[in-house]
Amino acid sequence: MTDRYAVIGHPIAHSKSPAIHAAFARETGEDLVYDRILAPLDDFAGTVRRFIAAGGRGLNVTIPFKEAAWALSDERAPRAQVAGAVNTLSLLPDGRLRGDNTDGVGLVRDLATNNGFAFAGTRILLLGAGGAARGLLQPLLEADPTELVIANRTAAKAHALAALISDGRVSGCGLDELDRTAFDLIINATSAGLDDQAPPLPNQVLAAGGWVYDLVYRDDPTPFQHWGLERGAAVALDGLGMLVEQAAESFFLWRGRRPHTAPVIAALRSGGLR
Ligand code: NDP
Repeated sequence: MTDRYAVIGHPIAHSKSPAIHAAFARETGEDLVYDRILAPLDDFAGTVRRFIAAGGRGLNVTIPFKEAAWALSDERAPRAQVAGAVNTLSLLPDGRLRGDNTDGVGLVRDLATNNGFAFAGTRILLLGAGGAARGLLQPLLEADPTELVIANRTAAKAHALAALISDGRVSGCGLDELDRTAFDLIINATSAGLDDQAPPLPNQVLAAGGWVYDLVYRDDPTPFQHWGLERGAAVALDGLGMLVEQAAESFFLWRGRRPHTAPVIAALRSGGLR
């Protein structure tokens, strides 16, 4: 029987995950179908259970259910444990659900492997302290930066997240408390990019030749990419590559095969994959 997977969220109609996984399956020759599931806001767990009972093998989880998926997981990968959020559920042979979070590794691969960013010894500024920011922390630290500052509009949340991570390289502050430190990489993990406003930042936070990365993606550059380019960023990336890389890591967890991501990123950019 063909194995079934799906992405589950609310809303879900916009999701590119079915097209991405269909491309991966074509390339690797894996026999699977991948659907999208709109779960009622008050019945995430029931919807997951019904999908599994009907033969589902794994799920990608998106807004607003990543924390609920964490709670539903019978066991969790260490990076998901730290993230407090799960974006990948896998059915184990004994019927239990394993939760993982592939967002952070997706971001690091897009930066390092696809675009050549050398993390070792860099200073990183992470904007935001919500679910997405939290999911990035462990993979970012494993990439070996010298310093990682979490800056958030609500400073207390950045402090709390830094305290939770308990790593000498990590500190938290308010967006309005950023001092004269210049960062080699600034990552926008706030939802501010969605409403056409880049987060308010002092100009000097971007080092000469620094990079900016926006988790948000759309057809034209985001306000945050514009912000970086106007301040001399060497490279300004959006989150489309991360979306494909996190999907590839989920595919690997489920199927043990690593699809090529570059053609899929290129096809999404050119509008050839929808
Ligand atoms: P949350 O709602 O959990 O967190 C939102 C964060 O944004 C908080 O830190 C919040 O600050 C901050 N924020 C919101 N509005 C503003 C503003 N106007 N100015 C400054 N800060 C603001 O959202 P998530 O963490 O789940 O998602 C963040 C973004 O990342 C979303 O746009 C999401 O689409 C994207 N994303 C992209 C992925 C990809 O594959 N490319 C994967 C995962 C997420 P405060 O605490 O003060 O409210």
